[in-house]
Amino acid sequence: MTHQDLKEIIRDIPDFPKPGIIFKDITPILKKSEYFTYALNVMEKALQNLEIDYIAGIESRGFIFGAALAERMDIGFIPIRKPGKLPYKSYKEEYSLEYGVNTLEIHQDAVSEGERVAVVDDLLATGGTALAANRLIERCGGKVAVDLFLIELSFLKGRDQLKNVNIKTILSFS
Ligand code: AMP
Repeated sequence: MTHQDLKEIIRDIPDFPKPGIIFKDITPILKKSEYFTYALNVMEKALQNLEIDYIAGIESRGFIFGAALAERMDIGFIPIRKPGKLPYKSYKEEYSLEYGVNTLEIHQDAVSEGERVAVVDDLLATGGTALAANRLIERCGGKVAVDLFLIELSFLKGRDQLKNVNIKTILSFS
């Protein structure tokens, strides 16, 4: 198994969820355990030596990779969710997406002062989602140790929005 194999199994869905967007469908990775395991192995390696206290996953696909990584690494998982889903007191950040505007929320007691968090999502596009997630961690008093993505759409220049953050991506599409 190679990175190229992983790249090739990701399915392009044109015009989803809106005309002009080519959606990267990662469900073929999840469907085959050897692909999912390979993806988790390389993502876990990218998080080595960063002294991370928690993994924060961004709803929804960030939950899949983030929760699996947290369990492997024996650390806690923090859900960063779409609006109205979290039951306890929450902080809110608005952000703009490649295809619209949205809000993310985190429980106010999710992270404590100075704790180090890896923010995980499936894909980095324009960077708005990750920027909002990073702000939520910081509002709780935490430190974003790294933003980790399986996929980067490098032509959308998400990295430009995430200055001063350690960004790691596994597969880049240009
Ligand atoms: P952005 O905020 O523009 O970096 O968008 C990243 C978020 O939107 C991630 O949670 C992705 O899952 C999702 N997303 C954005 N663009 C795409 C795309 N072309 N294919 C799949 N997911 C995408």
